[in-house]
Order: sequence, then structure tokens, then C-alpha cells
Amino acid sequence: MELAGQSTPRVAIYARQSVDEDQGIAQQIEDCRTEVFRRGWRVVAEYQDNDTSASKERGPKTAWSAMLKGFDAGEFDTMIVTETSRITRSLGDVLDIRPPRRDIRVVVAREGIDTELDDFMLKQLVLLAEREVRIKTERAARYAVGRRLAGHPTPGMPPHGYRWVPSIERDAAGTRYRIDETEAEDIRQIFSEFLAGAPLAQVARDLNDDGKLTRRGARWDATMVRRVLLNPLYAALLPPAQPTGKFDATSIDLEACTPGAWQAIVERHQLVASRGRLIGVRPNHSGTARKWLLSGLAVCGSCSRPVRSASGQTHPTAPVDGGSAAPSRRYHAYRCPNGHFMRNGDIIDEYVAEVCIARLARKDAADLLAPRSDWMDVATLNSTREALKRRRQSIASFVARGLMTDTDADESLVSIAHELQSIGDQIALAVLEDPLAEVAAVEDVRDWWMGASLARRRLVVEALMAVKIHPVGNGKRVTTLSGAAATISVEWITR
Ligand SMILES: [Zn+2]
Repeated sequence: MELAGQSTPRVAIYARQSVDEDQGIAQQIEDCRTEVFRRGWRVVAEYQDNDTSASKERGPKTAWSAMLKGFDAGEFDTMIVTETSRITRSLGDVLDIRPPRRDIRVVVAREGIDTELDDFMLKQLVLLAEREVRIKTERAARYAVGRRLAGHPTPGMPPHGYRWVPSIERDAAGTRYRIDETEAEDIRQIFSEFLAGAPLAQVARDLNDDGKLTRRGARWDATMVRRVLLNPLYAALLPPAQPTGKFDATSIDLEACTPGAWQAIVERHQLVASRGRLIGVRPNHSGTARKWLLSGLAVCGSCSRPVRSASGQTHPTAPVDGGSAAPSRRYHAYRCPNGHFMRNGDIIDEYVAEVCIARLARKDAADLLAPRSDWMDVATLNSTREALKRRRQSIASFVARGLMTDTDADESLVSIAHELQSIGDQIALAVLEDPLAEVAAVEDVRDWWMGASLARRRLVVEALMAVKIHPVGNGKRVTTLSGAAATISVEWITR
């Protein structure tokens, strides 16, 4: 309904799309163009905001802001959108385009709004939209609190060892994490090797050597192993919400965690122990990952320095009949850092392994593997801990009922806090696994040894014996177990 003498409206199209929407910007533009054409008006500008939410403030870099500048520069007088919700879900934005601040004529194609005829309807629709956003936000917040109280984890990729259960597949309890047995094995191995004393880098190396990869298909490294050992989710503990972007696994207070509504992969005391050993220790102090059984463990028979691994090289000589020499090959070797020897490592490893297996298979090995006398009972410590927590709770209720003064309560709470701390330390100590404990329950020692990780074998050797490797004469090669026995001495460690 153009009046004679009035100039044709110069129109700016505004289209907006937020991240979670699938209605394309192209479609919005197309619909607006059609409407402008139908009215016989003229499009002079098109503004598009991609991935821009209608309920957040739109900064100076957005098309919205550019559009306001365009209007102020007199480039257009009318703007068109497909729906009110494309303009905004906040009344504040409407005030930017309508009097008294600016007088942009607004046309909403699909809702039949034209502010030239009716300004009220536009504001009404925006108010409704604003209310809808508020209700949705509140509902989401309430839902998040309820979910957390029920012990359900935040949606997202669960850590290695768990699978996310989609809502249609959940059980009556609404369990979100399901154990992935293959991955969970890696997690159990990480905890048990670390608690038996293996360095982080060694644990990672052994996983890699077994062909185990992270879920993303990457090789394990010390940092990833450390992250696993700090993660409360593995003991089915849901940490309190942390400010986004500031996640720090070491600062989580286990006492403040909610019991998680899923199955744990490791025991709580294992987590407490691993965190106790890692927190406060520099992250890069992860120890050396060894490739061989005795590097750094065995010592030189002449100077007692720990041996290092080396890569030997064969020097085949050409046969006298004029044929060509066999190609030179590299082999695993140990050497004394002071140069007393360099010896083929395979036969030495084999000999030490045989000695170890034979010792562990002996009838009296049980004495060797008996729990240490200073061994503390984790179950007892745990129940003491629970009792302390119950006492803490009843103090709170005494105060609430006026049966105890604040001062008395403070004193008791401080002493309980100290006791809890000390129990926590004792649990952490007690749970540090004896590297030999696992062998005690084994039927076939040789079989166990073959399946054990290098970290575990090294820990067993370290716990059982002191190995000395002696120099042999130049050019003399030891290739048999009896030859090795004559040049390697083993001293048993009494525990
Ligand atoms: Zn030496």
C-alpha cells in the first residue's frame, strides 16, 4: 500500500542463525527477497549473522552492529526478517531499532508484522520470546542440579574405560556410563602398575608396546597416564562443578565429590593413593621409561655403577673362500658407563628371568610373598574414616538443634579434620601395592612372567634381587645360560 509521491522503501534484509539451528540462512534470505519483490520494493543491503545467538549481546563485529551503522548512515529505511525471533529475543535489541533511538521500519515476512501499521505486535512477540529463553535457561539449570544430585555425569565424551549410554538405552536408574571392558583393562593396568611403583613413562611405554592406543588412536604418554590416575570418575566419584576453562584435576576435593551413579573401575582407595603420590609432585617428573629388563637396575661387577642399555653391532668377517660377509646387525646390549664391558643383553635377560621364575616357583616362595609386617588393613582404615565422617555430621546436627555451641563444634571439627587427613595418608600408604603381591595368587609363575608387563618384571627383579654383571674377556662371547650364570651374580634381597 504505497502512497503516491512517497519513495519506494529501500530495504535491508537481516538473517541470523545460531549454532544449534538447522534452518539455513540461505532460506531466510531467499524468503525475504521474495517478499520484497512481491511488494515491489528494493533490496539495498543484506546482513547475515552466523552462529550468533538471539539471546546474547551482539558485539561490534556482528552484522547486527553493521546494520545499525548502515541505517545511521542513511543507507536504508526498512529492514525485513522472516520471523521476529531472527531479530532478537531481547527487548533491549528492539529498543535499538525502534523510537526513540532509531526509527527503522520493521517488516516480519512470516508473521505479517509491519511497524508502519502496528508497532505493538512486534514488541509483544519479542517479550514472549524473551520469556521463553528465560524459562528454558531456568529449566536447564534446575535439570543440571537434579542430575548432579542423582550422581549423573555431565553429558559428553566419557573418559577412556567408559561408554556414554544414550537416553533411549538407559536402565531404570538412568545410568550414563557403561564400562568398556577392553578399555577398562588399560585403566586397571595403569593404576596397578603405578601403585606398584612403576614410573608414569614406563606405564605408558608398556601400553604402547602392547599395541594399546588411546580412544583417539594416539600413543599413550606420561601426561595421559597421569591424567587417568588423577581422575575421580574412575572411582565413580562425581567432582563438583568447576568453572569452565579452568579444569584442574589436582584441585578437586575428593570429600566434596558426589557418589556417581555408575560402576567404578578402580577402588576409591586406589584413587586416593595415586592422587596422593602425584599431587605436589612436578608433572614432568615421570621417571625413565626403560626398554630392557635390567637397564639402570643391574650394576657393573667391577665398579658397581648401574648398567645402561646400548645398541651393539655385529662385525661379520668375510669367509676365506672369497664369499661376501653376512650383513652387519644391531643387537640389544648392556654396557658399563665406565667402559668395563659391553655385553649381549638377550642372554643376560633370559638368565635373570629364569632365576626369577625359579625362585618364585619354589615352595617357600610364599614366605617371600607374605604381606609385610607393617602392612595396614585398608578395610579397617576405611571404616574408621567413615566413622569420623559420621561424627562430623552429627556435630552439625547438634549445633543445628542447639545442643552444642559453635566454639565447641569448631574445636571438634578441627580435630576430626586432622584425623581424616591422617587416615587418608595411611590409606594412601597401605594401598601402595607390593609389586610381588600379584604373584602370590598365581598358579603358573612362568606363564605369569610371560604375560607380565616390562614395568612389572622390572619391579619384581628390583624387589627380589641385586644383579651384578661382570666383564668378560675381549672378544669372548657368552651365548648360553650356563655361560651367563658364570658371569652374572645374583644376590637375594631379604625383606
Ligand atoms: Zn664398571
